[in-house]
Amino acid sequence: NPELARAESLIREIADYPEPGILFRDITPLLADAEALRVTTAALLEPFTGTFDVVAGIEARGFLLAGAAAIAAGVGLVPIRKAGKLPRPAASVDYALEYGTATIEMHDDLPAGTRVLLIDDVLATGGTLAAGRRLVEQLGCVVAGISVLFEIDGLGGRELTGDLHTVFRSA
Ligand code: 5GP
Repeated sequence: NPELARAESLIREIADYPEPGILFRDITPLLADAEALRVTTAALLEPFTGTFDVVAGIEARGFLLAGAAAIAAGVGLVPIRKAGKLPRPAASVDYALEYGTATIEMHDDLPAGTRVLLIDDVLATGGTLAAGRRLVEQLGCVVAGISVLFEIDGLGGRELTGDLHTVFRSA
């Protein structure tokens, strides 16, 4: 698909960000391009048509894609936020980072059994999305799927998250 290939070419590689030795995938040029945003949003949703009731985006870049995806799919949007950002935290999950731990939280406003499509921009070690899955399940909801714009291969992310759809993958 040439439109998707063009969109992928807009993902910029930034060396040594946020730390020396990290090759950061910067998706902001893709987001800024109307056609690239449209085709990647459609590609994020493509395998999941009719299988979910709501989209959940993971702070912060996941919000951008989840917002676009929710509008495109005609469903609502739920934020999964870092600890302390939601006014009324209901469920929270801790997960391991390379150094230390992080916590994500989600309100309990969804009826039990709601089918949630989890969306984030980049999959690296998979810790964030695996925690997102646990969070949704802790609230009695169902993970309809996990959809990610860019998968960094070789970090074990896919093994940690379980079943996962990615639009682009590192070579
Ligand atoms: P993981 O938990 O899979 O190790 O890391 C994924 C999380 O870190 C995602 O929420 C993602 O936004 C962020 N992240 C890690 N590496 C990158 C990167 O190279 N580019 C971008 N845009 N986000 C990254």
